[in-house]
Amino acid sequence: MIGIYGGTFNPVHYGHLRTALEVKELFDLEQLRLIPCRLPPHRHEPDVGGEMRLAMLNLAIEDAPGLVSDRRELDREGPSYMVDTLASLQAENQDEALILFIGADAFAGLEHWHLWQRLFDYAHVVVMTRPACQMPVISDFLRERLCEDRRQLQQKKSGRLFFQAVTALDISATAIREMIASGRDPKFLLPDAVLAYIRQHQLYLP
Ligand code: ATP
Repeated sequence: MIGIYGGTFNPVHYGHLRTALEVKELFDLEQLRLIPCRLPPHRHEPDVGGEMRLAMLNLAIEDAPGLVSDRRELDREGPSYMVDTLASLQAENQDEALILFIGADAFAGLEHWHLWQRLFDYAHVVVMTRPACQMPVISDFLRERLCEDRRQLQQKKSGRLFFQAVTALDISATAIREMIASGRDPKFLLPDAVLAYIRQHQLYLP
């Protein structure tokens, strides 16, 4: 099984990295692909370009076997639609099941994603939740795909939905950017190598 973890990664931080490692182990993934987007469809274009966000991601996962970066969204024109990303990954990995991992905040907007129902044609979707959080109200389409046990994902290559509790780290890239802009130190919220890169390139300053 191949995992997919998309995001802006502006910059990557321990909230992403810890959950990525946990789901890689829990779902026994050969590989978890972290995929920085070029143009997020539902938000402003990131002020830091894709190549720099990818460079920070690569520094962060240097010593994490099985966590790999994937630049396909940076190389594709136009908005970075996840459905296109999954289609191309499936075409390259025909015998593998794909799992798309998304945070609970991203899941809340899933039904606004471009061709969102088709995501399930290409992959399972796993929502990473906080431990002991309440299950959200979901549509019939999603409820039909919901499974109770993560082993059920192994029975098919795509089409199921699962909620997985992961360690909650209340870290956001927005908060890190704001800290840097206001002269505060975000150390311990993200890898030192990423922070060194930010300082070297003077990113996120006002
Ligand atoms: P921003 O603050 O700029 O919105 P972010 O920190 O939320 O950024 P993104 O790159 O937008 O990071 O998120 C990519 C994915 O990582 C999303 O699925 C999001 O839900 C998830 N994610 C982000 N932060 C955390 C966190 N602290 N714990 C678990 N998942 C997270």
